[in-house]
This record gives sequence, structure tokens and C-alpha cells, in this order.
Amino acid sequence: LNQSIQKLSMSEERTFIAVKPDGVQRGLVSNIIGRFEQRGYKLVGIKLVQASQELLAQHYAEHVGKPFYPKMADFMASGPIVAMCWEGKNVVKQGRVMLGATNPAESAPGTIRGDFGIDLGRNVCHGSDSVESATREIGLWFKPEELVNWESNSAKWIYE
Ligand code: GDP
Ligand code: MG
Repeated sequence: LNQSIQKLSMSEERTFIAVKPDGVQRGLVSNIIGRFEQRGYKLVGIKLVQASQELLAQHYAEHVGKPFYPKMADFMASGPIVAMCWEGKNVVKQGRVMLGATNPAESAPGTIRGDFGIDLGRNVCHGSDSVESATREIGLWFKPEELVNWESNSAKWIYE
């Protein structure tokens, strides 16, 4: 299963990217998708999810029990989330760079959070922080059959 989520070729690394309820409410979905698309990453999974507390507790297992967790989880369950799986060379690390720092106050302009966010608890988007987290999160949010293996015709214009 893990091997089907994280393929072996380096250019085919996968990450989990989500537009949080604030990003959906504010109409930022197409902008965020567009940034990954225009960069050259390949979309292999996408759906709109109303997340349950159970799913969020698994997704944010490292944060359960922290003082900010209950409000953060309620916020994440307050509306639809766009769950996505993106594929490409170094996409886990580069995806985090594209998101910007966790706190939008520290995110550089040009990043998603730096362009669209002000407060820590309304930082618009999520991205896996490591290849291991990505594998875990993709497995949590997507069934294997919801991920599509397809060949991009522009790959040769993106990768040398
Ligand atoms: P991320 O991986 O960059 O999203 O950051 P973390 O994994 O550290 O935290 C997960 C999410 O919880 C962040 O994106 C924030 O929205 C929220 N969060 C993290 N730390 C705090 C905090 O101290 N207070 C509040 N209110 N929210 C936080
Ligand atoms: Mg995190």
C-alpha cells in the first residue's frame, strides 16, 4: 500500500495538500490549485471533504492534547476542505515552501500563507511536512482507488 502511495522514482514523490475551510470559504481553491499546476506538479487525487473529528484526530495526532487542539479541530470541521494529492520531484519539501511558514505573520510574500493569511489559526492550507507524513496522510484521506496514475504530456517540458 505504501509503495502505491509513494512511488519509487524520485520525480514521482507525492504529498498531501489541503485547502482548509477558511481557504474554501474565501474562494482561494482555484488559486491554490493553480499554483501547484503552474509549477509543474501533477494532480493525482482531489475531493471535497467534510472532515469528522475522528479523521482530524488521526490527521493531527501529533497535536491532540495540546491547548490549541480543540479550537483548531472545530475550525477544521467547520466547513469543507479540499483534499489533494500532488506528485512530482521533491514535492513534499517544495509544497511546504509554496505554503509558507506555519504562522502567516512569518510567511514570505509570494507564498500562499504570506499572500492570503494573517492569523496562525486561519492559515488557509495544509501540506505534509515529510515524505513519511505524506504517505500517512494520503492513506488517511484517500482510498487507493481515488488516486489516479496518469502520464502527463508536459513532463518532458518540465523535467530535463
Ligand atoms: P503546519 O504543519 O505548518 O500546518 O503547522 P503545525 O503542524 O505545527 O500545526 C498545525 C496547524 O495547527 C497549523 O497550521 C495552525 O493552523 C494550527 N496551530 C499550530 N500551532 C498553533 C498554536 O499555537 N495556536 C493555534 N491557535 N493554532 C495553532
Ligand atoms: Mg504540521
